[in-house]
Amino acid sequence: MGFVTTVSQCLLCHEPTQMVELCHVSFGSIVRCQQCALVRVSPFRSSEQLATLHASLEYFQHPYFEARRDLAREESVAKQRALLSTLIDGSSLKKIRLLDIGCDTGALLVVARDEFGMDVMGVEVSREASTVAQQQNGLNVVNDFNELRGLRGTFDVITLVDVIEHVANPAALLEEVSQLLRAGGKVYIITPNHDALINKLGLILHRVLGTRARSLIEKLYIPYHEFYFTEATLARLVKQSGLQIERQTMKEFPLNEFGHGLILKLGLVPIFAAQRLTRRQTLQELVAVK
Ligand SMILES: [Zn+2]
Repeated sequence: MGFVTTVSQCLLCHEPTQMVELCHVSFGSIVRCQQCALVRVSPFRSSEQLATLHASLEYFQHPYFEARRDLAREESVAKQRALLSTLIDGSSLKKIRLLDIGCDTGALLVVARDEFGMDVMGVEVSREASTVAQQQNGLNVVNDFNELRGLRGTFDVITLVDVIEHVANPAALLEEVSQLLRAGGKVYIITPNHDALINKLGLILHRVLGTRARSLIEKLYIPYHEFYFTEATLARLVKQSGLQIERQTMKEFPLNEFGHGLILKLGLVPIFAAQRLTRRQTLQELVAVK
């Protein structure tokens, strides 16, 4: 366990608190609030710094996104279809208005529009990604979240796929999501689960090997993530924004979307099996209602 730093107010528990270092990475430290156990990067980064990071070409070309975009079309469509099916009431004939925040090139929105007949819109900070979404997929995608202000209370479903861990203030984001939803509307969130066994293993390795474990540690703690939510901290954040949790489930990271080498993938197979048995998988999914 490393240093302790004092902050005047934690984003989740709103208390003056001490942040304890869990591990050291090349871009700072991963720290945990002593009061509420919120895990985040230190030093904290501003929304401007994070927007610059996420708008970069390097981010657009991250192996994780490349692997996801390289999925066979049928496989990708099946994945988006499964996600959307869990969110809609099959008996409803009303045209559903969907907003995908952090929509990348628009894979989810295309399926929502073409297969489910939804009225769709996206927000994406990366201009490379939004240009593909607009020009190749004919989607309505804006780059700036502020452009949505006039649409408050109009969305039936809002999706946040691997987004909440990337922003400077997830509490403010969820409050805005709540504003954008109509009464009874739903938000879908998927984000890494910091209770996953692989995180515990990584932190043990870090304690034993120090900086020699860094390349492995930095597969778990990547420079683009500002926050690492556990089941409890994510639930608390969502409830604080006034939304009611409908379900929260653990889910495994699909190995075919893991943009790294075969040896690392093979090493993950037994870890993922243990995670499934202990219900401490790599990802968590949450659906909440306004
Ligand atoms: Zn806290």
